[in-house]
Amino acid sequence: MIDLNKNYDVIVVGGGHNGLICATYLAKSGRKVLVVEANQSLGGASATSEFSDRFSVSSCAHWLFQLNPDVASDMGLNKQGLEFAARDLNTIALAEDGNHLIIDGTSLRVQQYLMKIALLLLPLISKYLSSLSCCLARLTAERRNWSRVISLIVSPWLS
Ligand SMILES: Cc1cc2nc3c(=O)[nH]c(=O)nc-3n(C[C@H](O)[C@H](O)[C@H](O)COP(=O)(O)OP(=O)(O)OC[C@H]3O[C@@H](n4cnc5c(N)ncnc54)[C@H](O)[C@@H]3O)c2cc1C
Repeated sequence: MIDLNKNYDVIVVGGGHNGLICATYLAKSGRKVLVVEANQSLGGASATSEFSDRFSVSSCAHWLFQLNPDVASDMGLNKQGLEFAARDLNTIALAEDGNHLIIDGTSLRVQQYLMKIALLLLPLISKYLSSLSCCLARLTAERRNWSRVISLIVSPWLS
């Protein structure tokens, strides 16, 4: 319910999953937050609704199992009874010419892990590359003193 006498710091228009996540973190950081939603229930396109007797489905978010577990935990969703019926589901985008795009759910998870590892390595690699370019500049200056250059290349990894 909207309390008209209360001063809100933030008004989030729309209680879809993005609005709800923003509202949660803003409230956790101490802001007074009001979420306004035009529909009868929250969730937007990720809301689950019953389309036939005892059969429910998310309107759009068929990949909801990819929800970041940290976000789910911060929002207390597990305590609220969130359970995924399945994980690592495949998905398909149908094409008129029959050349459908099929994305395998397991390989998607592997890709996400690889992406995380790549992001962790990125600062290390960029530090190494900048040392390397520095070494190459020195190589020119030191007239191909290879043993010195190799020690310069290896030194960032030993420090
Ligand atoms: C076919 C399809 C499949 C998808 N599959 C996935 C998937 O598998 N996984 C996934 O993560 N994402 C999926 N998405 C994308 C996902 O649905 C959207 O990214 C997500 O719903 C966006 O969330 P949102 O909170 O920004 O907006 P919405 O979910 O659209 O929520 C917006 C909310 O704001 C409310 N609203 C709008 N205007 C007002 C107003 N003026 N005043 C008050 N309330 C208002 C609406 O009623 C609604 O509840 C899919 C999208 C489509 C179209």
